[in-house]
Amino acid sequence: MDKFIQIQPNIFCEPCKDCGERPVIQQVKGKFVVRCPKNKSHYQTKSGLVDINDWNLKNKQHPPLGNKETSKKKAS
Ligand SMILES: [Zn+2]
Repeated sequence: MDKFIQIQPNIFCEPCKDCGERPVIQQVKGKFVVRCPKNKSHYQTKSGLVDINDWNLKNKQHPPLGNKETSKKKAS
């Protein structure tokens, strides 16, 4: 069974972009993965250190790759 470690409430975490759940930490063979508690196929960080920054980046509502600003400028 999967055992999850809750992330302290005072640490800011983006909710899962797929289902809105607060992420949890899972220990896998002595390493840590930040992942969605609901579904393994939702984003999870690479195993290693607890990387909430990476989780937050990948679960932002607007992905950093989007060029919304530039396309808006073009339109006007
Ligand atoms: Zn999820």
